[in-house]
Amino acid sequence: MDRSPTIVSPDQSLVDALGQMQGRRPCYPNQSTSQPNGQQSSYVLVVDRGRPLGIVTECDIVRLSAAGETLSSLQVQDVMTPNLQTLTWVPGSPIIQVLPYFQQARMRHLPVVDQQGLLLGMITLEGLRRSLQPVNYLRQRRVSELMTQPVIWIPPTETLVAAASRMAQHRISSLVVAVQMNDCVLPQGILTERDIVQLQIQGVNFDATIVADVMSHPVIHVSPNSSLQATEQLMQKYCIRRVVVIDEHQNLQGILTQTNLIQLYDPLECLHIIHNLKQQLQVLQDVVVQHNQDLETTNQRLCLEIKRRERVEHNLRTVQQALSYEFGQRTRALIETNQKLRQEVLERQCAESRLKAANLELQYRLAELAQRNQEIALLGKLSHYLHACQTIEEAYGILPKLLASMFPQVSGRLYLFGDVLSDFNNDSNHAIRAQLPSEYADQAHDLTSHIITWGTPAPPLCSTTSLAACWAIRQGQAHQGHQGQVDRSCQHCMITEDWRHRVCIPMLTQGQSIGLLLLGTNWEISESTHQLAVTVAEHVALALANLKLRGDLRHQSIRDPLTGLFNRRYLQTVLDQELEQAEQHQQKLSLIMLDIDYFKRLNDTLGHEAGDRVLQQLGRLLLSNSRSTDVICRYGGEEIILILPNTDLKSAYCRAEKLRQQIKHFQFFPSPPLQKTGFQPSMADYPPTASLDYPSPTVTVSLGISSFPLHGKSPNELLRAADGALYQAKRLGRDRVAVASYLSEQSSTKSEEAILPPSLLPN
Ligand code: GH3
Ligand code: MG
Ligand code: MG
Repeated sequence: MDRSPTIVSPDQSLVDALGQMQGRRPCYPNQSTSQPNGQQSSYVLVVDRGRPLGIVTECDIVRLSAAGETLSSLQVQDVMTPNLQTLTWVPGSPIIQVLPYFQQARMRHLPVVDQQGLLLGMITLEGLRRSLQPVNYLRQRRVSELMTQPVIWIPPTETLVAAASRMAQHRISSLVVAVQMNDCVLPQGILTERDIVQLQIQGVNFDATIVADVMSHPVIHVSPNSSLQATEQLMQKYCIRRVVVIDEHQNLQGILTQTNLIQLYDPLECLHIIHNLKQQLQVLQDVVVQHNQDLETTNQRLCLEIKRRERVEHNLRTVQQALSYEFGQRTRALIETNQKLRQEVLERQCAESRLKAANLELQYRLAELAQRNQEIALLGKLSHYLHACQTIEEAYGILPKLLASMFPQVSGRLYLFGDVLSDFNNDSNHAIRAQLPSEYADQAHDLTSHIITWGTPAPPLCSTTSLAACWAIRQGQAHQGHQGQVDRSCQHCMITEDWRHRVCIPMLTQGQSIGLLLLGTNWEISESTHQLAVTVAEHVALALANLKLRGDLRHQSIRDPLTGLFNRRYLQTVLDQELEQAEQHQQKLSLIMLDIDYFKRLNDTLGHEAGDRVLQQLGRLLLSNSRSTDVICRYGGEEIILILPNTDLKSAYCRAEKLRQQIKHFQFFPSPPLQKTGFQPSMADYPPTASLDYPSPTVTVSLGISSFPLHGKSPNELLRAADGALYQAKRLGRDRVAVASYLSEQSSTKSEEAILPPSLLPN
């Protein structure tokens, strides 16, 4: 209910009333109105002393306009609709009771009065429609269900009077302005009661004005299938009270007004709905009660549960405190254990480190031990081989390979000084010199007796002079030198550019240097190599000294000290070997037995020294005229035997004859002045008491020859045969060569033939 309706007095002019409908000004100066300026009202209620007398609506204005009335001369009471139907208000009355007024009586305005008939307010169709909020009804309903058909329409060329007449005639609040095109009626605009009221206020000439000029357009329209809810919202949006309904061809189908919408609200249906709602409410209330009871039950259960949980929580808290205490205790114990374990781990790590270090040390020691073992084995091998050597020459032959195997990482030289072999087999030196490169030929004269070299790069040769200046030789101990160490480097090492590190080790026997072991390499020489080299030098020095001693002893045992020839003992050995060899290879072998003639007389006249000198010179003479295969032995006194392997009797005879002549013409004594006379007496004629200026005697020899297998196969047979031949040579006058007889038992009978058998004698 609108409690501030638009009211006017009966004697008020109609034009003022219309202005008030348009919201221009209030009716009475003293009375405030709820209608603000600019808000329109579809009516003015005529009130006198608080009681409603009548009403002037937009519909009345349309009717007056259709009748061509002049509004300015009229008062409200002239045109109002009297005897209004009112509604007496009873507190608590439902709004539903109002609906029949608007639905059946097709009223649009219903004044509400109190028991005394005084105006309380106004219920309008529009207000009712807003209050009902018919959303649920409208949602499922279509426009086509409620729209008004057919539609009263007017062409746009018609006058306003005609339009108002049509509206009044059909008692409609609006008129669709449309044009006919074929079978379609196309809406162009709309003309409403309110437009008529406004046009009247503006003083428009209704007879002279055509609808097209004043109609509202464009037309707000919906389709027949549009939902009523959407249509209601559209009307509210544009603040309109009706919409035109058109189909998809723009053809006019109907019109939907708020009167149509109010038709929806059937009071019976509403009451039924209210009843249903009440029932639902009752059900809901029952449900709520039930839920409340459930909630109460649940609440009680929860309270019990809460108490139980509180007890449990209390217990838990107690247990937790106990556990916390226990945990603290355990944690402390764990921390202590952890610390102990850490300490233990550290100790174990230390022990492990120590063990690793010890292991490494052990491995190093083992490797060193293995190295030592290998070195000892090599050293043993070296000693073994050196001890197995019969001669120094053999030792020279094996030393390079042995030294190379012992010092594979380094190269070196072994110098042996000359006096080691000074009087022993000079042929070795000759052989070594022959092998030397030509650039060392000059140095070779000063060289040591032997040099053994191994490894690459081979060191340069050093002269005896530079070796004599070696620090190791001078100090009698090993000396290590490095490149760039000028002050303490040996002179012989200065030229060894390839050896950045070297060590010189003297080879000592009985405090005397017999040689120098020189090692060199481009990297540092290890202590073990150094020590090994010292040991090797000692071993080699000792072995070579032993071999030298053995050589000397052997030399002494088989050589005659006066003549340098082999002695009789050696003769026995060699003759056996040579004969065996000759027999094995089917070769010839001859013996020459030589005896100085009248040697006793030489001793007696010239003295034993002279005799010794003759024997010495004879020995050299025989050696210098012998072949390498010949063996010359002093058989005894002044008797000498020559073993001639692979020599037949004839060759032996020639050799013997040649020797006889060489000896006879050899000057054994310095020539005294008388010798110039050409007289040289033989020992046979030499006077026993010759003065010093007497010519020196000629020395002659007698020679007897025997030959294998002609004169025998054993040494004794051959020696006997040669001796027999020598005897024959003596007997026949000395200074001659005699050949043994073929058969020893016939030697006495065929002595003459035995001297020179015709087949063997030279022509
Ligand atoms: P024949 O012509 O018959 O051989 O007469 P011979 O005097 O040479 O022979 P004999 O057997 O009578 O004398 C040998 C002498 O040789 C005796 C000895 O004094 C001498 N004699 C032996 N050994 C040596 C020696 O080593 N030195 C010297 N000076 N004389 C020696
Ligand atoms: Mg003699
Ligand atoms: Mg003799």
